[in-house]
Amino acid sequence: KRLTGNEIRDMFLEYFRAHNHMVEPSAPLVPIDDDSLLWINSGVATLKKYFDGRTIPENPKIVNAQKAIRTNDIENVGFTARHHTFFEMLGNFSIGDYFKEDAIRYAWDFLTNSEWIGFDPSLLYVTVHPEDEDAYRIWREIIGLEADRIIRIEGNFWDIGEGPCGPNSEIFYDRGPDFEPGAPADEMYPGGENERYLEIWNLVFSEFNHNKDGSYTPLPKKNIDTGMGLERMASIIQEVPTNFDTDLFTPILAEISRISGHRYGADAEADVAYKVISDHIRTVSFAVADGALPSNEGRGYVLRRLIRRAVRFSKELGINRAFMFDLVEPVSEIMEGFYPNVGERKAFIKEVIKKEEERFLATLDEGIQIYEQVKKKAQQDDNVISGEDAFRLYDTYGFPYELTKEYAENDGMTVDEAGFIEEMKQQRERARNARKSGDSMQVQSETLARLTAPSTFTGYTSKSEEAVLLH
Ligand code: ATP
Ligand code: MG
Ligand code: MG
Ligand code: MG
Repeated sequence: KRLTGNEIRDMFLEYFRAHNHMVEPSAPLVPIDDDSLLWINSGVATLKKYFDGRTIPENPKIVNAQKAIRTNDIENVGFTARHHTFFEMLGNFSIGDYFKEDAIRYAWDFLTNSEWIGFDPSLLYVTVHPEDEDAYRIWREIIGLEADRIIRIEGNFWDIGEGPCGPNSEIFYDRGPDFEPGAPADEMYPGGENERYLEIWNLVFSEFNHNKDGSYTPLPKKNIDTGMGLERMASIIQEVPTNFDTDLFTPILAEISRISGHRYGADAEADVAYKVISDHIRTVSFAVADGALPSNEGRGYVLRRLIRRAVRFSKELGINRAFMFDLVEPVSEIMEGFYPNVGERKAFIKEVIKKEEERFLATLDEGIQIYEQVKKKAQQDDNVISGEDAFRLYDTYGFPYELTKEYAENDGMTVDEAGFIEEMKQQRERARNARKSGDSMQVQSETLARLTAPSTFTGYTSKSEEAVLLH
């Protein structure tokens, strides 16, 4: 059974509808009435109003397919098989209704029942929190999973500060030894991670309240919050090596291929560019459809960096003009059945992206002129471009550091990288001091800050020391 991405989404909603869940629509990526988040980053993020008791749902059993943006995964994109900055999370939720046992039963039934997904149960592994004897017992005795396929992991506790929290249990799919580092398929994952056991579904059992004073007390009404990655499910069901090889992405890759005249799959390094570009265009298209616009701060800055990052990667494919806006077509075609607003706002989205691309291309042109001056200066001296100059090119002219380095190499010169890194550190220090403390979205803010690093082009040197430092 080779379901399409759209069919998997439908099937998930249908399964839980058949089990008396109410379907909650996919909410916009830009949070409504919630300053704590930059973007909606999970299914539960849009249901907070139910979890914190502000609103009583008509039905305490809820299911959704929620668009999500996670900027903290940006450096994984293209390097692992499974990460995106934009993805869809399929989730079922219980607001004080069913708890662990039913949540686990539903998940297992949906995944292994041949009337639904029908995975071979012997390829599934689960993790539980070491102290969560209930979850262990349910997997072991009620589901009947062998003990060696239930792994106790300390980190399995969902806690984001004050509010509901609790242990979680994750389900992994074993894709076999071909997906391990060093195996033949490994070059598809330049990130060097073990992609054999793919995490597909996270079941969170929120049973405690994390109090202001740091103590934990049992919640009077316990909740269930789950999240399954649609693109990952599609990669397994469609038997393809990465999320990018599913039908949720291939039409975008085909369009990139048409534009660049370069073949996807021909070389692993160039494939990274395909993956990054196809990822970023989905994020930007959906974010703009939901009301965000490129700018110099907050959400807008994320979009600006994503577009620039994709443009940088497009150079690897020999693309030298604005092209991303053309990719909005396949994005909307793939998604419009469930997300009509991308199609409806297509003309606007294209215009926004095209403008931004052209602006960046102009910036690059200007940067090249400044580079020429810097180059002359270095040639009259020791053939080393100073850290300050490289930083000024980046910071004032938006000229990526990787480019300065590339150009310098072509010109038989080097760049004072240590000096550049020092300048970057100082800038980050200034940004850190400026950032208000106690930001509840610390992770995203941190990433946002890091997005200002020039190597948002991770290039093919992501494992090198400078890349680690710059990220
Ligand atoms: P990973 O460990 O692979 O980074 P995670 O534990 O951070 O995933 P969760 O926060 O548990 O992910 O999110 C629930 C589910 O959403 C995951 O099990 C996965 O299927 C999916 N998911 C999470 N992050 C991403 C992402 N960046 N791209 C695609 N799918 C994702
Ligand atoms: Mg993660
Ligand atoms: Mg995980
Ligand atoms: Mg997880």
